Amino acid sequence: MTNMLYDALFAPLAGRDRGFLLLDDGREISGAAFLAMVARAGHALQAAGLRAGDRVAVQVAKSPEALAIYGASVALGAVFLPLNTAYTPVELDYFLGDATPAVFLCDPAAEAALAPLAARHGARLFTLDAAGAGSFAAAMADQPGTLTPAPRGEADLAAILYTSGTTGRSKGAMLTQGNLLSNARVLADLWRFTAEDVLLHALPIFHTHGLFVASNISLLTGGQMIFLPGFDLEAVLRALPRATAMMGVPTFYTRLLDTQRFTRDLCAGMRLFISGSAPLLAETHRAFAERTGHRILERYGMTETNMNTSNPYDGDRRPGTVGFPLPGVALRIMAEGAEVTGPGEAGVIEVRGPNVFAGYWQMPEKTAEELRPDGWFITGDIGRRDEDGYVQIVGRAKDLVISGGFNIYPVEVEAELDAQPGVLESAVVGLPHPDFGEAVFAVLVAQKGVALEAQTVLDGIRDRLARFKQPKAAVVVAALPRNTMGKVQKAELRKTYAGWFATPQA
Ligand code: AMP
Repeated sequence: MTNMLYDALFAPLAGRDRGFLLLDDGREISGAAFLAMVARAGHALQAAGLRAGDRVAVQVAKSPEALAIYGASVALGAVFLPLNTAYTPVELDYFLGDATPAVFLCDPAAEAALAPLAARHGARLFTLDAAGAGSFAAAMADQPGTLTPAPRGEADLAAILYTSGTTGRSKGAMLTQGNLLSNARVLADLWRFTAEDVLLHALPIFHTHGLFVASNISLLTGGQMIFLPGFDLEAVLRALPRATAMMGVPTFYTRLLDTQRFTRDLCAGMRLFISGSAPLLAETHRAFAERTGHRILERYGMTETNMNTSNPYDGDRRPGTVGFPLPGVALRIMAEGAEVTGPGEAGVIEVRGPNVFAGYWQMPEKTAEELRPDGWFITGDIGRRDEDGYVQIVGRAKDLVISGGFNIYPVEVEAELDAQPGVLESAVVGLPHPDFGEAVFAVLVAQKGVALEAQTVLDGIRDRLARFKQPKAAVVVAALPRNTMGKVQKAELRKTYAGWFATPQA
């Protein structure tokens, strides 16, 4: 009997003495030792009552043990349900009630607050901390180091990941073994990952980027991972000379560029820097190339679809674009019910392929709204293609500003604002306006040491954008609100400035 995902990712670790996880404290966990950890976690979960098809929810700090629990869940044919460590008990109440996991692992510090929730929703509660200690570690301790995986194939569920859901309830995206393995195979091939690679892993493992893109590729190709608990600048600088590849969100790269200690020499052994989860500023791309000689490879994906597009490994990695659809992934851009044909025409991106999820957990209506019966998934991202077929993300459909009846794509306005002297970055949102319905509003961040005047910036783009696209007002702030994946929280900005145009500003 086979377990497709386990056989491809975890089984090959057997007998591998070389370090698989390289930790910042100098410890190395060999492939064989990690596989034994997977087996012990699997037995402990089974002993706690977890059966094939059950959900195992985890809200724990990143650690080798936490990754092993993912492997154990795959081995048992259970459904892995990682939860953002920032979620509050109120949010967890919803997730536990919705997914009804048989087992729930949390941080020891949160145990007292979460025990009543786990009890209410019928989940067996364990704890695990960043050092791999806690009641679950104790439950693993005496378990056997080998395990026979449950038979599992293409269409069987491997994970549920809740979408970040800025509007309405978070939805649980159901990902199958086939979704995860097909994407890992395509990406490993496209980005040329081999057993020789040492991947610098500083991403969280509760999100598709760090859990699937990074970890699955490394596991699939038999490479090594420098497994950091999070993005700590000092630890990343220490790790870089040992690494060959890194995956990050754009803020990783801007934080590296902020220090002069990040040099070309430090990257001498690197062959690839990849960025995703949020748009990488063209300016960051340029500055990074200047400093290191490396052109960051930007790709685009989402919880529901894994990865969809990537800039080429060989060939032009074009800043401000996310490249081409991955092999086996079909992508179309739809406007007013038809596929757009011309370059530059914007519309909603739809994708279809083995990467596309099986639907939202217990939400058939939501699934039907976004996943067409013929397999096309409506991403909600607005995009367009340039003359050479490179896809550019223009924004989320829900972030589209409609002012006085005109459609305005924030990214177009942001690009003009960003190009103004002294502007580091910007975010454009639509705010309620008594005459226009919505009015374009800009939030600006100044480059270091620059005293930026919002009005000067607005004056600077007067001749560059049609009048209806120009922000009717702008403010300068110290930093844009971002979530842990580096995404600008536009909903938060809309809320903060909601009343701006309700009463005329001086
Ligand atoms: P998540 O489901 O949390 O991974 O968020 C997915 C969303 O992040 C996508 O639908 C896009 O809106 C955005 N996203 C991911 N990668 C990129 C990228 N390279 N450029 C712009 N937006 C991106």
